[in-house]
Amino acid sequence: MKLELMHPADQLVTIMERIYSCGMTTTSGGNLSILDDNGDIWITPAGVDKGSLTRNDMVRVSANGKITGNHRPSSEWPFHSIVYKRRPDIKAVLHAHPPALLSFSIVRKIPHTRLIPNADIICGDIKMAEYELPGSAELGENIAKMFDTGSNVVMLENHGVVVGDKDIFSAFHAFETLDFCARLEINALRLGNIKPLTEKYVEISRNKNNALLEEFEAKSYSSEEREARMKMCELVKRSYNQRLFTSTQGTFSERLSDGAFIITPYGMDRKYITPDDIVRIEDGKKERGKNPSRSVILHREIYARHPEVNSIIIAHPPNIMAFAVSDTDFDSKIIPESYIMLRDIPKVPFGSSFLQPALFAKEISPQTPVVLVENDCVIVAGESLINAFDRLEVAEFSANAIISARQVGEIVKISEYETERIKTAFNLK
Ligand SMILES: [Zn+2]
Repeated sequence: MKLELMHPADQLVTIMERIYSCGMTTTSGGNLSILDDNGDIWITPAGVDKGSLTRNDMVRVSANGKITGNHRPSSEWPFHSIVYKRRPDIKAVLHAHPPALLSFSIVRKIPHTRLIPNADIICGDIKMAEYELPGSAELGENIAKMFDTGSNVVMLENHGVVVGDKDIFSAFHAFETLDFCARLEINALRLGNIKPLTEKYVEISRNKNNALLEEFEAKSYSSEEREARMKMCELVKRSYNQRLFTSTQGTFSERLSDGAFIITPYGMDRKYITPDDIVRIEDGKKERGKNPSRSVILHREIYARHPEVNSIIIAHPPNIMAFAVSDTDFDSKIIPESYIMLRDIPKVPFGSSFLQPALFAKEISPQTPVVLVENDCVIVAGESLINAFDRLEVAEFSANAIISARQVGEIVKISEYETERIKTAFNLK
């Protein structure tokens, strides 16, 4: 799907739906705009329910100031217009007040974008604009001053955030990434001390390249593979909707009965992945013309070493990741179901999964199906795709429960004696 070919009004509907369905705006809050090639600005309307906008609700403001549409333009229209005037490279502006970013806005702090790799690249240098009355020219000027410095992401004191970018999809990715960083940091601070990536690790992650694999021509696809591709796409979307993946992060793979495996592509918005985008890996070669996830070598090593593993997920959900970016270890012995599904989850140093994939593959076993990588990700292995997905959900739910429980009282863990009884009763090796 060529998203940039959609009409500006449809792009606004698509992105507002994503923002609203992810819980990142209220019915009345937030506004989006797109600068069309002919100088028209398309903007979301004032005073219309953000949960049910249609293309006919969008308002067009022509370069000469003429307003066309069924509603008034958003009351925040002044700052959208001034950002376009001051930064000709910006073609879309997004503004919202999601709860986690609001928390930062009201204490006037900027979320850490170096708890995990790449967030700082996606968001760039983030600035804070001084408070002013919503809808005022003064607020517009305060925001524009920050965009003048070259920043594309500007937090607003006691208000929210504004993101400008070359198109509305890129603006959304930066907005979603910053919101993820804010949620992750809040969770991690509830657990203990946060540990950002060191300069050395940032450097290492910058030099991470796509795997250089030879290509092969896929001549035909078995019905098993067709079904696996379709199911994988369904689960990728479900992971996205459950907020286990963001649009730019999260990888699935599954082994097929002929020994090949399929894996999600690199750099594609997880919300729009289709069966055709999935990449087949066969005898160490990739399907011609496609770009598999950069973690493809790690998947290959794990499958080669572990015949019992048929699916792998790499993800970054904000509760389990809070343990990967703080000094607190995750202990699954909170309820029997968590221990049975997850067993003990080790935390390994940043970089080990991609610098030494063969060595890392040894970490995975039937006794250790889930591994946390510091400041990077959680890696989950399963007998099947749905089994790995279930494990990922259990890990995220358990982590969420532990983080909340710390506010409620002291956590009582299942004892060693009871753990042994669980192992016997459920035949855990
Ligand atoms: Zn606002």
